[in-house]
Amino acid sequence: MINGATQIFGILGRPVSHSLSPAMHNAAFAALGINAVYVPFPVQELAAAVQGIRGLGLRGVSVTIPFKEEIIPLLDEVDRKAQAIGAVNTVVNREGRLYGSNTDWEGALLALERHTDLSGRRVLVLGAGGAGRAVVFAVQQAGGQVWVADAEEAKAQLLAQEMKVTALTLADLTAVSADILINATPVGMIPQSEALPVAPELLDRFRVVMDLVYRPVQTRLLQEAAKRGAKTIDGLQMLLYQGGRQFELFLGQPAPIEVMRQALATALKRE
Ligand code: NAP
Repeated sequence: MINGATQIFGILGRPVSHSLSPAMHNAAFAALGINAVYVPFPVQELAAAVQGIRGLGLRGVSVTIPFKEEIIPLLDEVDRKAQAIGAVNTVVNREGRLYGSNTDWEGALLALERHTDLSGRRVLVLGAGGAGRAVVFAVQQAGGQVWVADAEEAKAQLLAQEMKVTALTLADLTAVSADILINATPVGMIPQSEALPVAPELLDRFRVVMDLVYRPVQTRLLQEAAKRGAKTIDGLQMLLYQGGRQFELFLGQPAPIEVMRQALATALKRE
């Protein structure tokens, strides 16, 4: 029940109506009997919204598209990992000071490590946007070697230079003998769910394929990869684990991951 002592959390984005984070976090609060709510904030002006976190005493917020980079200079402190990635997806309000961090990379790492070892492995990452950068950071933290490609070659080259990995062009993806493929582009998301980010023939070479897209959960990329015998990791795993880490940063206690997993599944079924 909402009362005078209810703590308020939320998500800043535009649009945010599609977000599964409210379902995941509110289910977690309810399961643990925490007097808190998590609401979507469709942001009109980011600087004013960030002032609003302070002004209204919100306890913490998630940050999503298109604000993960733009929010950085508006915060009081940003941890070194989020700075290295260049994106913040979590803000915690500690007595009026706003601390930014990034849990996308931890979500990606936890999802990957449940299915594969990364140390010394060669990983091809498609997409050099904010999600691609978080994934590259995760693989590096676990001792993997990364090649990155993006439809915008200059973007892949910039990421490669900043994060000390190798850029490839889309025409030249066979130049690396990677056996893990990660799609960090929006290709394959509904309504374009028949689209593939790479030619299907290329999939023969990968032992593990992870897709960050989670609408649909079983993307065409994952289906084609599974047909060819690859182990597949869907985008819901990363979403779940980044949300779990976020819950821990918000409240300083372990997240009820199974409750959050169930909430995601239920919310998706309702769509
Ligand atoms: P973004 O900033 O738009 O970056 C995506 C990049 O991929 C763009 O530079 C885009 O280039 C490029 N691209 C498009 N098609 C490509 C192709 N066939 N091959 C290589 N590169 C291609 O998006 P983002 O924020 O990084 O997010 C990417 C995806 O990850 C989204 O679908 C998002 O929903 C998902 N995501 C999932 C999670 C999760 O927890 N599962 C977390 C974060 C993000 P152009 O701009 O030229 O098209």
